Amino acid sequence: MDISGLRELRGVSTEANYIRIGGLTTWSDIIRAPLPQCFDALKSAAQEVGSVQIQNRGTLAGNLCNASPAADGVPPLLALDAEVELASSNGSRRIPLAEFIIGNRKTQRQPDELLTAVWIPRTLENARSTFLKLGARRYLVISISMVAAVIQLRDGKVAAASIAVGSCSAVARRLHDLERDLLGAPVRDGLDALVKPDHLATLSPIGDVRATAEYRRDASLTLVRRALDSCVEGG
Ligand SMILES: Cc1cc2nc3c(=O)[nH]c(=O)nc-3n(C[C@H](O)[C@H](O)[C@H](O)COP(=O)(O)OP(=O)(O)OC[C@H]3O[C@@H](n4cnc5c(N)ncnc54)[C@H](O)[C@@H]3O)c2cc1C
Repeated sequence: MDISGLRELRGVSTEANYIRIGGLTTWSDIIRAPLPQCFDALKSAAQEVGSVQIQNRGTLAGNLCNASPAADGVPPLLALDAEVELASSNGSRRIPLAEFIIGNRKTQRQPDELLTAVWIPRTLENARSTFLKLGARRYLVISISMVAAVIQLRDGKVAAASIAVGSCSAVARRLHDLERDLLGAPVRDGLDALVKPDHLATLSPIGDVRATAEYRRDASLTLVRRALDSCVEGG
């Protein structure tokens, strides 16, 4: 079934407490949309999805429902505490993205449900955000690891942090221990030294044609450190 003509499911709107992105919004739409600073990571991810042709056709909903461990849209949306809206002839429901994807290519979507929208709470709008993707080459590549970081600063210190890593477990994961350890940290000298290998212990990278498990873990540590420093540059 081709649903690409359903205009109601495409576009970005700002509601009282949420930003709503229609499920059929394409990556090119995201790149062009005027969105708050905390969406910079999602915009960067959009620019990394395949090529411009793929970005013009590929949708947010398809990326999430496909539930690939390497889906570029998942880490930035996880870091923004996104919720997904699912609708069928029986009604609609909203669940956190963190609960929606339950495994490699597995989601909570029922066969009769469409993913109609993604809702992002407007709690971190002024936060800075970064997305870094490592692949075997620069463009048109499936990632070896990718990291999205959203950091809210207050008085030169970390007031809120959310960090998600993709391609290093069946489902992209938030690094909650690291997020906690960063709270209150001064950013003047950067945050990279605060990231320890143990903070990535919840990841379970596999070895495959793209990289070994050890390389993925090591590269992720470097990406997390770089992403955090990029968020707090100029403090
Ligand atoms: C050459 C190439 C390169 C690519 N590179 C990347 C990449 O770098 N990074 C990346 O993340 N992805 C990449 N992709 C994968 C894909 O194009 C994107 O993830 C895209 O966002 C998927 O969106 P789509 O609308 O094309 O979904 P489709 O491919 O049409 O659908 C994917 C799955 O989701 C289901 N689905 C789609 N929309 C809905 C909906 N609204 N409700 C319920 N189910 C739905 C479909 O039935 C299908 O099972 C690439 C694909 C190609 C062909």
